[in-house]
Amino acid sequence: MAGKRDYYEVLGVSKDAGDDEMKKAYRKLAKKYHPDLNPGDKEAEKNFKEASEAYEVLSDAQKKARYDQFGHAGVDPSYGAGGGAGYGGFGDFSGGFGGFDVGDIFDSLFGGGFGAGTSARRNGPRKGKDVQQNVEITFEQAAFGVEKEVTVYRMEKCNSCGGSGAQKGTSPVTCKTCGGAGQVRTTQRTPFGSFSSTSVCTACGGAGQTIPTPCQDCKGSGQIRHQRKITVAIPAGIDNGQTISIRGEGNAGTKGGPAGDLFITISVKPHELFERRGNDVTFEMPISFAQAALGDTLRVPTLDGMVEYAIPEGTKNGTVFKFKGKGVHVLNGRGRGDQYVKVVVDVPTGLTARQKELLREFEQLDKGVHKEKNRFIEMLERFKK
Ligand SMILES: [Zn+2]
Ligand SMILES: [Zn+2]
Repeated sequence: MAGKRDYYEVLGVSKDAGDDEMKKAYRKLAKKYHPDLNPGDKEAEKNFKEASEAYEVLSDAQKKARYDQFGHAGVDPSYGAGGGAGYGGFGDFSGGFGGFDVGDIFDSLFGGGFGAGTSARRNGPRKGKDVQQNVEITFEQAAFGVEKEVTVYRMEKCNSCGGSGAQKGTSPVTCKTCGGAGQVRTTQRTPFGSFSSTSVCTACGGAGQTIPTPCQDCKGSGQIRHQRKITVAIPAGIDNGQTISIRGEGNAGTKGGPAGDLFITISVKPHELFERRGNDVTFEMPISFAQAALGDTLRVPTLDGMVEYAIPEGTKNGTVFKFKGKGVHVLNGRGRGDQYVKVVVDVPTGLTARQKELLREFEQLDKGVHKEKNRFIEMLERFKK
């Protein structure tokens, strides 16, 4: 899949294009490349699939967000499969146009008349919908990873009817309208000639079956909403806003289709002391004017606890010290970032009369100890001449 084109480029829209603009761009391409209008043209078919795939991702807010963050790797299962934390994809593009209803587009383009080939597949196995869940973790949990129990609400197979939707002791019956096919064939005349097409059977909604006595528990749907506690291994180094995908933990599929996936979006609580920049941790340490001038051994908090650090005599305000390997773990990799400690001289306020007296005395004794200030005064003298 190397060299796969950027989805925005495929549709010819900018990153901040609105829904309408994307829809318009896609319709234009669909009209140009649709296989029905270009029979036997492999290039057109390829372009059509490419545009459909791009539109499917960009028109779905969740997929679009993942694509914007991770590129193709975020939405395409063929990228980075088995990549540690399971940053899998959606795995939804196989089987034609991924459930995308081409008929909708052609209905609006040509005023109806095109049956959608994809709609007819409603009869077969369908993958369950993905489930999205947000989880909040602490700064430390993000840095070191954590196993977290997450409560998820999802659709599961109804136990009372075994997923058939029919009340126990009864069974679904074959749809009389379509004879179980789930679709009906119609012939339409359009400006492009006669098209024989199939459309979904309205009597059974494409299922091919009707249920005379629906299951009381699931009201005939074959599925019931369950609350589940799922233990999720959140990898060390994960950052705010990133998403973990867990295959097969979403809603149950129908007609033997696989379950959807569970997407867990992480939000990291801000830390009272630390800030994160990539894998590095930054921290500001207030010190007194005397500590800066005389030097001192500081007790500095890190993610691994308190460490001692000796600052030299004459440490300037804003000096940054680096603590190697005291940062956040590298996500899916080895090692850790660093911690950067910036010392900030805390200018004293609310001094007592005695303290003021001492400082005035100190100021009188200034025999060139304020090097920068004295250099400035000399420069100022030269400037005035
Ligand atoms: Zn049931
Ligand atoms: Zn039917």
